[in-house]
Amino acid sequence: MSRAPGGSSSLLQVDRLSKRYPGRGNAILAVDDVSFALSAGETFGLVGESGCGKSTLARCVLNLIRPTAGRVLFDGRNLFDLPGGEMRALRREMQIIFQDPYSSLDPRMTVRATLLEPLEIHRVGSHATREARVQEVLAQVGLPESALRKYPHEFSGGQRQRLGIARALALAPRLIVADEPVSALDLSIRAQILNLMQDLQEAYGLTYLLIAHDLTIVRHFCHRVAVMFQGQIVESAPTDELFACPLHPYTQALLRAIPPPDPDQPRKRSGPAGRGETDGPGEWPCRFAPRCPLAEEICRREAPALRELRPEHWVRCHLAEAPLIVLQ
Ligand code: SF4
Repeated sequence: MSRAPGGSSSLLQVDRLSKRYPGRGNAILAVDDVSFALSAGETFGLVGESGCGKSTLARCVLNLIRPTAGRVLFDGRNLFDLPGGEMRALRREMQIIFQDPYSSLDPRMTVRATLLEPLEIHRVGSHATREARVQEVLAQVGLPESALRKYPHEFSGGQRQRLGIARALALAPRLIVADEPVSALDLSIRAQILNLMQDLQEAYGLTYLLIAHDLTIVRHFCHRVAVMFQGQIVESAPTDELFACPLHPYTQALLRAIPPPDPDQPRKRSGPAGRGETDGPGEWPCRFAPRCPLAEEICRREAPALRELRPEHWVRCHLAEAPLIVLQ
């Protein structure tokens, strides 16, 4: 691959990142040679099924866990080379929103204490400035001032996720990693939270790295999407392009699995035909081969590289070809 998917003037650049965990037999490669870049103000979605490595990748990006290889550049600085003090200062600029706001909020702390905590840890401003900032972020996420005296259990799921967002916003970060931010919420609340995140992005120029297992979440929210399978990016493209012209068999399977808007319309097969389902992944250089209905001899001989088949559209598949015409 000649360059990473993404813009050249990047706020965040992930460069050949790998994370290997020791296993009982072979080591487990949770993230394998992943590269991408995010421009300021962009939303980039990382999508894949549970266990594909996307959450491990997100934690490496934030330097919460150390990768086995590779670099993460934030504003041109490699996080893994920074002295402790500089990394602590940089943490103000990179925050996370968790999937389950209830488990990420301390049930013994009031909202006021929860929102003050990051400001106190990073010694932001005076006492009065911090109190004012707490009230400001609470208003930004659409919660009333009366919420300050309450505890997390007094809120609904959607309100708790607003609190999680407020805490991430408190330090005025530039990058927010949102790890499945709406998957624990009712369908009716999901759109409200995604709309709130979009409004905040427009107002404050935030950059989002959104982790999701569901392509429907990223469709209207992300500018670009990367699909992960077993630790590797198998396809990456601008969102409209990916939905109009999915080129990897795994992406095509994920799109077929999206339920139709009309519940009476039957859902298509949830994945490619089960040819080779029993083959061990170790027999195939392409990790998707045991589930791939298109696998051929070359897939048994060579691992596919990530190739740019259309402008900004990268695919890891020997047989994928750029179509001459894309129906929009
Ligand atoms: Fe399927 Fe071969 Fe492409 Fe892998 S490289 S996804 S096995 S066609």
